[in-house]
Formats: sequence, structure tokens, C-alpha cells
Amino acid sequence: MAGTLAHLTQALVAYGNHVPVTDLCPTVVPEAAQLVTSDPYAFCMAACLDRGARSEIIWTIPYDVHTLVGHLDPRRLYALSLRGWASLIQDLPRRPRYTNDAPRTLYELTHLVVDRYGGNAARIWEGRRAAEVIRTFHSIYGVGPGIANMAALLIERVFRVRFPDHWSIDIKPDTHTVRVLYRLGISNDRTEEAAIAAARRMNPEFPGIVDAALWHLGRTRCFAVAPQCQGCPVERFCAKREV
Ligand code: SF4
Repeated sequence: MAGTLAHLTQALVAYGNHVPVTDLCPTVVPEAAQLVTSDPYAFCMAACLDRGARSEIIWTIPYDVHTLVGHLDPRRLYALSLRGWASLIQDLPRRPRYTNDAPRTLYELTHLVVDRYGGNAARIWEGRRAAEVIRTFHSIYGVGPGIANMAALLIERVFRVRFPDHWSIDIKPDTHTVRVLYRLGISNDRTEEAAIAAARRMNPEFPGIVDAALWHLGRTRCFAVAPQCQGCPVERFCAKREV
């Protein structure tokens, strides 16, 4: 089993490495992808809101804010009150799912970026360990541990950072990663806790390394209903539970 697990991990890592960043941060329009992959504050906005809504909507929101306000400067957005953020979000063409929580999330993120990092969101991760980065994201209202770990994983891919403590980064246990790990027979339950534990067993040195592959497989092939197993890069390892 150990050998099989190692080979499965290798296959997932190889697959995940070839998933384009634009698939990991999908957007409705290409300009939005350009923004979230080049502007650290835009990236943080989307990452912190990434819950409950389609990813394409979430990763386009910073672009919509920029279009609506005319800039995406955290120092200028600092002046917005909670009510101001709520009003801004209501005016967006696309909105996060939790519109009652999102204003506070963006308010706290913006104040964190300005008060602690001088308006430069990249300083959240520059020269820091993953564990600290995850704690920082998790400290923002509405950001759970899953999103905080996802943010650390994406920061490595998008901004070409390499954290020294990969063992600190878990997968984000969402509907896709939980389902795929269970079907593969690595996770023994369809729960977030079981999925995190399974990824840690697969690769204790860097549990989150399989996240991109699991998430992308779940979105594009390993559907909840009628998964497309033929041609799946990990079919030979798969227990295919409940398929
Ligand atoms: S072989 Fe089928 S069930 Fe298994 S991971 Fe691939 S798509 Fe999912």
C-alpha cells in the first residue's frame, strides 16, 4: 500500500503541476485573471471571499471592484466603512455568496494590509513561513482554515514563492477534494477531517501538494454524478467508491 500511495501521490503532483494558474484562479473575463495573478491585494480579496459561490465569480470580483471604483488601492479603500463596503458589494455585477459577511471580510483585509503591511499585500507572505501566512489569513473575518491553506498554496503558484515549511500546508477540504480522495480510497470517510488526514498520510512533508490535482479533477472529470473515469490520470489507483 505504501508503494501504491507514493505512486498515486506522484501522479497527482505531476497532474497538479500542469494545471494552469488560470484554472486555479478561474475568472469570467481574462482581464480579471491578469489582475488577481499580478496584484497581491486583488489576489487576497478573491482568496478571502472564496466560499460558497462559483470560483469564476469570486476571482472576477476584484476586477469588478476595480471597474466600479476606478482603482484597487488599499490605502484609498481604507476609508470605506463597513456600510460603504456593503454598498459597494451591492453595486457589483457579480457578488459573493455571503453578502452579509463579505463587507467585514474586505474591511478587515484592507485594514490589515494597510495597518500591518503598509499597504503592500505581498508583505503578508514575503520572507515569511507558511504557518504565519496561514495564521494571518485565518485571522480575517470569514476566512476559515481551508481558505487560509488554499491561499498559501496559491501564493506559491501565482507569485512563485517557496515557503520553507511545506509540512504546515494542508489541502483545502472542499466538495471536490473530499469526493476525489474518498473515491480514490485514500480517505475513509466523506468528511473534511478525513480528507485532511488522508492528504497528510499521502505526503506528510507537504500534505497540500495534492490539492490542485484533487480540486481540478473534481471540477473537470470526477463529477459527483457520472465521473469520466476513462482517461483519468489516476484511474489505475482508484477504488472508485460509489461510482
Ligand atoms: S478514476 Fe473516476 S472515480 Fe476515480 S478519480 Fe478518476 S474520475 Fe474519479
